[in-house]
Amino acid sequence: MLAKNLDDLYFSQSALISYQTCPLKFRRRYLDGLFWPADWGGDKNQKEVIEQGRLFHLLAQRYYFLGEVPQSKELLSQQLAFWFEELKKFRPYHDNGKFLPEHEIRMNDNGIKLVAKYDLLYITSDGRVVIYDWKTNNSRPLTNYYRNHLQTITYRYVLAKAGRVYSPTGIFRPEDISVIYWNPRYPNYVEPIGYSQKQFVKDELFLIKLISEIKSLDYDQFIATGDQKRCIYCEYRPICHGKRAIHVEIEEEDMDFDLDWESIEEIQFS
Ligand code: SF4
Repeated sequence: MLAKNLDDLYFSQSALISYQTCPLKFRRRYLDGLFWPADWGGDKNQKEVIEQGRLFHLLAQRYYFLGEVPQSKELLSQQLAFWFEELKKFRPYHDNGKFLPEHEIRMNDNGIKLVAKYDLLYITSDGRVVIYDWKTNNSRPLTNYYRNHLQTITYRYVLAKAGRVYSPTGIFRPEDISVIYWNPRYPNYVEPIGYSQKQFVKDELFLIKLISEIKSLDYDQFIATGDQKRCIYCEYRPICHGKRAIHVEIEEEDMDFDLDWESIEEIQFS
C-alpha cells in the first residue's frame, strides 16, 4: 500500500476516495505509510460490527470458492448462521458459470495503474458478469448513493478494461457488467446497477484526470481539507487536531481475508 513514489502506486477506490476526502489524508496513508489496524479507535459496538463483517466476508469467500463451508455451522454465531442462510438463498452456488470470490485485478494502462478488489465476481456462460459487494453495516445499501460512487466507477471500469481474460467470449462489454451491493441484514433489497459504453468513456476520462492530478502534486501540495466536518471521522484527527475521531469508516482493504497475493493479476496495455 505504501508507495515510494506515486508511479509505484496502484490506485484503489479507497485511495481515490481518501484523496477526494482530503489530500493530506491520502498523503499520510499512501505516501507516509501511517496506518492503524482496522478497528482502531472504534467503540465496542463498532468493533463487533467490523468483526461480524470480516467473518461474513470469510464465510462467503469459502462458500463460493468450494461450493460449501468446511467448518461446522454450529461454530457460527446465530447472526452469522442467519446471514449465511440468506446469502445461499440470494446467490446460491452452482456449477453453471464461474464464481471468483475475493478476486483482485490490477491494470496498468500507460502509467494509469488501478486495482479493484472484488468480494465476488459471478460470470455467466454467455459472458455477463455480476460484481457482488457485501455490506454488513447497519444501514440498507443506498443504490442512488452507490450509482455514482468511486467504488462503482472503479469496479466496473477495471473489469471492462482489463477483465477480458475471465470472459468466455473474450470481452466484457460495459453492457455485460452490473454491480449489486447486498447486505444480509436487508436480504430482499436488491437493485443491480448497470453500465454502458457512454458511462465507460465518461468514467475513463474521470479516472485518468483524477490520477493524473494526484501524480502531478509535490509532497507539500497534499494539503488538508478545508472542511473540518470530514476530520471528525478521520483516523488522523489525533495528529492534525489532537483529538480522537468520533467514528472511523473502515475500508474493506484494511480487513484481513488471507488473500492469495500470487493470484493477483496485472493486466498490461501496450
Ligand atoms: S484529520 Fe482532517 S485534515 Fe487531517 S488528514 Fe484527516 S481529514 Fe485531513
